[in-house]
Amino acid sequence: MKTLEKLAIDGGTPAVTRRTPQPPRFDEREKQALCDVLDTGNVFRYLRDDDSQVRRFEERFAERIGTRHCLAVNSGTSALMCGLVGLGIGPGDEVILPGYTFIASAAAVLGVGAVPVIAEVDDSLTLDPEDFERKITPSTAAVMPVHMRGTPCQMREILAIAERRGLKVIEDVAQACGGSYGGRRLGSWGDVGCFSLQHFKIITVGEGGAVVTDSDEVIGRANMYHDCGRPFWEGYEGEVIPGLGFRMSELAGALGCVQVEKLDAILARHRANKARIVAGIQGLPGVTLQRVPDPEGDCAISLVLFLPDAEAAKRFANALRAEGVGCGTVFDNTIPDRHIYTYWDHILEKKGYTPAGSPWTHPAYKGSVSYSKDMCPRTLDYLGRSVALGIPQYMDPQEAAQWAEAIRKVAHALAG
Ligand SMILES: *Cc1c(COP(=O)(O)O)cnc(C)c1O
Repeated sequence: MKTLEKLAIDGGTPAVTRRTPQPPRFDEREKQALCDVLDTGNVFRYLRDDDSQVRRFEERFAERIGTRHCLAVNSGTSALMCGLVGLGIGPGDEVILPGYTFIASAAAVLGVGAVPVIAEVDDSLTLDPEDFERKITPSTAAVMPVHMRGTPCQMREILAIAERRGLKVIEDVAQACGGSYGGRRLGSWGDVGCFSLQHFKIITVGEGGAVVTDSDEVIGRANMYHDCGRPFWEGYEGEVIPGLGFRMSELAGALGCVQVEKLDAILARHRANKARIVAGIQGLPGVTLQRVPDPEGDCAISLVLFLPDAEAAKRFANALRAEGVGCGTVFDNTIPDRHIYTYWDHILEKKGYTPAGSPWTHPAYKGSVSYSKDMCPRTLDYLGRSVALGIPQYMDPQEAAQWAEAIRKVAHALAG
């Protein structure tokens, strides 16, 4: 057995010496696409429906995800609201979602007047199917699995329960664009799939989102809802519902057309890097890897390690950062992390848009959901003892090997 190397945090040599530069996110293709739109003098999709960049993006995106329809919108949050309205969800309904997701998932439920119900995640850090089933009440209308950090949810289990209990499934794919489960793209499993295309996501148009579905009815309703002027732009045969203002501009659409073509190459780079790191960190003392329900479909933008407890996770993260690997634990942030339900203060306090307290006090709501900071103890346990690493898109094999070496070094030192 080799002698333990001195950790960088104790004055040893850092394991990671290589840093692959990350090339600019946009290149000539995006610049050209934007200039082409500007040259037309028109940035509004419905003025050139036969040649709209937004329309072209929707076609390409639907084709890539494998659904019949796509509606482009102006954010991931509005995509979720369009998906919910598309499914007919509103006042009186409960929607079950995991306690580990960006607050936008719950905000969208509130936005359409429905009540969010918070359920546990399991060791995949995605919705625990058993707790989802436990949280079903007579008011439950839908479940919103969230593919957090690019990790596919257990869609077969979730769909089986939803089908048995007569619930709709709305996938939040904001963090997992292009990922898959069982060979099918995320977003195409549920009744509707909702994506974000803002700056921090896998592909981006600046601010934007997308709704995908196979259902004519769902896309028709989402379409009406996303644009209150919609019946004026084109004739509409179905029932007209009131809409809001979630349109995507031609500039964003043009960016989206280029970005969607890059999606699979982006994921391929992340996957190669993560595979190299994971191969080098098997069977380490005191370290368990996050379970990934379908490793082949993982977007591979992140890697999560579970330590025995929160204290160990903090020590591990500090030591690993000193070795040159960017990582963190969830509860040592200086700002409250809105990805964890304990920081969704206004929801836990049932504060709506006005003192009247809707949706919880809405006459149509017959349920009695309650919230507390400790309502999902397993979620807090898993998150509290996790160390999360972001996987860079560009890494040469040597740098990936050094990351694995750094993780091994820290694990052995802290265990020994
Ligand atoms: C980013 C995100 C959203 C919201 O997307 P926006 O484009 O910022 O509105 C929704 N859900 C999850 C899980 C997210 O990460």
